[in-house]
Amino acid sequence: MSGIALYPGSFDPVTTGHTNIIRRGLQIFDTVIVAVARNISKNALFSIDERMEMIRDAFADQPNVIVESFEGLLVQYARQREVTCILRGLRAVEDFEYEYQMANMNRKLNSDIDTLFLMADPTTFFLSSRLVKEVATLGGDISGVVPENVRVRLLERVANKS
Ligand code: ADP
Repeated sequence: MSGIALYPGSFDPVTTGHTNIIRRGLQIFDTVIVAVARNISKNALFSIDERMEMIRDAFADQPNVIVESFEGLLVQYARQREVTCILRGLRAVEDFEYEYQMANMNRKLNSDIDTLFLMADPTTFFLSSRLVKEVATLGGDISGVVPENVRVRLLERVANKS
């Protein structure tokens, strides 16, 4: 397969679960656009610009990863970018219901756009941004669960917050 996939999410911050999906996406698509959602706040720890910067740094050697942000409906953004495939990662059980609803709603909103799911890798399926932030706040070791540049930024951020 070739073409472009759009990988949307909050990425607060990006974890190795996300980077695994992006790297595997690049084996299927020429380009992956990582799209940081502006409208889902979820008590964010990092600003949108910081999140984008961390993803860009993690993929500095990979010109086929484009990092952007979007606001509003994902399908509208996909249409604007002329992308017809949304890429999502699927962790066991916890993601299924929400992802199933979203994928079908998005297809109802625009039948030209479909969602492709990659099953979470067994080495990263337990990871979520929320859990990583919690562990970092409590002083746990987060090496390997986030890219190295994110580990440094996250430790700085939680130290400044306490
Ligand atoms: P959202 O807030 O939209 O759930 P996230 O940034 O948490 O955004 O996740 C973006 C996408 O990445 C979602 O499809 C999510 O299921 C997937 N994802 C998150 N963590 C992992 C992981 N550890 N392994 C595989 N996919 C993941």
